Amino acid sequence: MLNQGIGSWPARRARRTPDRIAVVHRDEALTYRELHRRVLRLAHALRALGTVRGDRVAYLGPNHPAFLETLFAAGVLGAVFVPLNTRLAAPELAYCLADSGATVLVHGPEQAGAAASAAREAGIRHRIGLAAGDAVGYEELLAGAGTAPLDETVTPDAPCMIMYTSGTTGRPKGAVLSHANIIWNSVNVLVDTDLAGDEVTLVAAPLFHTAGLNMTCLPTLLKGGRVVLLGAFDAEQVLDVIERQRVTCMFGVPTMYDALAARPRWATADLSGLRTLICGGAPVPARTIATYLARGLAFSQGYGMTEASPGVLFLDREQASAKAGSAGVPHFFTDARVVLPDGRAAAPGQRGEILVSGPTVMTGYWGRTEDTTAAFTPDGRLRTGDLAHTDEDGYAYVVGRIKDMFVSGGENVSPAEVEEAVLTHPAVRECAVIGVPHEIWGEVGHAVVVLETGAHLDDRAILEHLRGRLAKYKIPRTVAFADSLPRTATGKVVKSALPAARTTPPANPSHP
Ligand code: ATP
Ligand code: MG
Repeated sequence: MLNQGIGSWPARRARRTPDRIAVVHRDEALTYRELHRRVLRLAHALRALGTVRGDRVAYLGPNHPAFLETLFAAGVLGAVFVPLNTRLAAPELAYCLADSGATVLVHGPEQAGAAASAAREAGIRHRIGLAAGDAVGYEELLAGAGTAPLDETVTPDAPCMIMYTSGTTGRPKGAVLSHANIIWNSVNVLVDTDLAGDEVTLVAAPLFHTAGLNMTCLPTLLKGGRVVLLGAFDAEQVLDVIERQRVTCMFGVPTMYDALAARPRWATADLSGLRTLICGGAPVPARTIATYLARGLAFSQGYGMTEASPGVLFLDREQASAKAGSAGVPHFFTDARVVLPDGRAAAPGQRGEILVSGPTVMTGYWGRTEDTTAAFTPDGRLRTGDLAHTDEDGYAYVVGRIKDMFVSGGENVSPAEVEEAVLTHPAVRECAVIGVPHEIWGEVGHAVVVLETGAHLDDRAILEHLRGRLAKYKIPRTVAFADSLPRTATGKVVKSALPAARTTPPANPSHP
């Protein structure tokens, strides 16, 4: 085959395992043969609309077979897939569409309004809707297209997708990921997990997010397993599908796993089919790990980022207890190291930035030369902007984002560490800590806390709880209570959007 990219996967799988089920969505199932034929039809249809190599094809919608079909069909033509975050507002969508220069937009029924206005603003040529009755209907388009083989030349280094970062620390940036980047990430996952051809992988995390797509969904399809798509995350439905479909594998961010364990049904749900549970994308609270271990379920933990396609560090489930709290060791084909500001490797226990190199690291940000230059060290390693330290065995512990750290009275404070300590209070459901300016200490911590339903606590009780658990300078000076925390679509707290910290913390001459 001339197509060495992931657009050729359905064809290659259809040759090997045509009758295995590839994708399940609601009550429908597609075999690899059917998936291959639908992808070919869509590729023909996109070509008829004028899509050629290098063009950008965007998707804005739920987890749906059309997401994967659009990804693969773009790959058949050598076009670049642009998945968009359904939680963005119309102007943000217009920004991503204009930024990527997409010419075609496939959208879900609920996104029709946003898609129309964003497309108008960004000058999209063709809008294709999943709902019957849309101007250009997805199914009608497929029905009218042929299935003659297409064998465009696509090399592994060609761009496969532009994936936008979560936008936790600023405007989302479009990471350009090549076919090779995506292929190597899937290989990393297949080497580092026991994922097999008989896998039943539940995809409940959004596919537009790198981990939802790349950590389990694509590796499963590469291996010839089955993916079960849920339109969006719903805890009750997830438990239901795990039982009914005998799910063996899933990826989730910590907030998703917490939501599952909070359902009354959790206690009696039959989870015996699960063997590979990957948790990552944000710091995984010790409490979450313990809750699942108590049910006999060990997480494989993952640390990564959009720019690395995304897997960087991985903790095998066999190490889940022994190395609880660690994000593991670098993936098989990835090199990651913890480096001090002067470029020297950090010794065990010493904190430094995680730098990444290897075949999954992006080529750069789309149309952002300066940001791309800033994202790499002079010798070509990806700067993650995250701090970590390793233990004597080389297992890494992610401390948090360098941007989030603050300095109180000359001491470095990691908000993630303080958040962990606050979360050990049984009445606390969620917590986020930031540094706020302080006359004497430069900065002090401010905690925003969400309590469990029905719990009553005041700030003093929280601070009392932290005494003895944390060094004095790490204990937040102020505590605010909120009903929820501002989070990105993938559950990350947007610290800049936290309820404003009190401007004048109570005067207290002793160090916090
Ligand atoms: P943006 O770059 O737009 O501000 P973002 O960094 O949140 O958003 P992603 O690429 O989705 O976008 O997330 C990567 C980041 O998520 C990492 O740099 C890290 O800070 C955090 N992260 C991912 N996995 C873990 C983990 N296991 N433990 C702690 N932090 C993690
Ligand atoms: Mg980032």
